[in-house]
Amino acid sequence: MNIELISIGDEIISGHTIDTNSAYIASKLAEINLWVAYKSAVGDDLKKMEEVIYQALKRADLVITTGGLGPTDDDITKRAIVKVFKRNLVFQEDVLDDIRKRYEARGIKMPSINQNQALLPQGAIYLPNKIGSAVGIVIIDEGKIFVALPGVPREVETITDEELIPFLESRIRQGYIKMIKIRTHGIIESALAEKILPATKLPESVHLAYLPSFSGVDLRIVSYGATPEMANAPAENLAKQIREAIGEYIYNEGNETLEMIVGKLLRERKQKLATAESCTAGLLAGKITSIPGSSDYFERGVITYSNRSKVELLGVPEQVIEEFGAVSAETAEKMAVGIRERAGVDYGAAITGIAGPDGGTSEKPVGLIFIAVASARGVKSKRLMLGRDREMNRMRSVYSALDLIRRTILESD
Ligand code: ATP
Ligand code: MG
Repeated sequence: MNIELISIGDEIISGHTIDTNSAYIASKLAEINLWVAYKSAVGDDLKKMEEVIYQALKRADLVITTGGLGPTDDDITKRAIVKVFKRNLVFQEDVLDDIRKRYEARGIKMPSINQNQALLPQGAIYLPNKIGSAVGIVIIDEGKIFVALPGVPREVETITDEELIPFLESRIRQGYIKMIKIRTHGIIESALAEKILPATKLPESVHLAYLPSFSGVDLRIVSYGATPEMANAPAENLAKQIREAIGEYIYNEGNETLEMIVGKLLRERKQKLATAESCTAGLLAGKITSIPGSSDYFERGVITYSNRSKVELLGVPEQVIEEFGAVSAETAEKMAVGIRERAGVDYGAAITGIAGPDGGTSEKPVGLIFIAVASARGVKSKRLMLGRDREMNRMRSVYSALDLIRRTILESD
């Protein structure tokens, strides 16, 4: 089965907007073992749009477009669809009812321009849009499935998850899928692959994907088979081999993030955490407090950017900074101990480093970061040697600190 995704809009082909929709849809399709064969993009030009859709329908069995479904004059995807499929637009009362209800729920009278949104190609099925007014459109024609979705990424994501994927699963899914996600931190992709691959030989029906991000590398196992058991067994088997090969780097199997896990561990133990940050200036505290209910376990976070603030707010001895420098294991450890004592909490975490891109020396290059965590059992620090990209360095330091906090909590049990 061939699949083609088409991204529509002048802003996409000009480079003003990065096409995240097709990436999102492709990854969701892959989760149900549907693999995209082609991606194309076309501007807001009726003739060219017709041409691209026409071509796609020739070479693919499932075609999905995003963009240009809105009610305004610049949204012309529907016009291209009726041309290609030679169908008329017909008014669908239930679509308009849905849109009207959504406006009413927000206490707004529906603008009359939305009448257009209830005009769908004859014979089309629609995919409801809970957060916007343009519904998804599905046309099944000569054995091909054509789907048009709106452009706004949040709407695309919601419709894809809640409507499109279930629709495709019921229509074209063959057999069963088992997916297992294993999240790791502290080891790079290539090193993971080296450790996992010699241990495993993958059967045809199993895919293993490496998905790196700031927080680490996620491993995704997708396995399919004619029965649930035929899908499950190889996936579980591979997961078991992976756990044996790289168990020490795994922090979660599922969708929980490091900040969620740290929060959960602290809450379970009724313990508290405080942070002191230099080069990340509050990013760690921001991550921790992005979790609802974090006030239960997060006491405070201070930004100690200057040397003076490290002395005044954390009690780092001046001679430690003089002797070892502000970016050193010694200073990081004193920061962690200082914030733990001053806040009167179970764990104090600290980050200090040279985020870059300037400011490095040969002895202390850009990307050199120290993180430290203090607990009742003492303090330990970790040296990170990251890259030249400031934002990347800051985010990766934050996740390394979260992982060190996680490990310290577990070791303190
Ligand atoms: P609306 O009803 O809001 O007009 P629409 O279906 O007409 O929605 P567009 O007008 O094409 O969609 O795009 C809406 C917004 O979504 C724009 O800000 C656009 O830049 C963005 N967008 C469109 N296509 C994509 C894409 N492929 N990836 C990421 N963003 C996109
Ligand atoms: Mg639009």
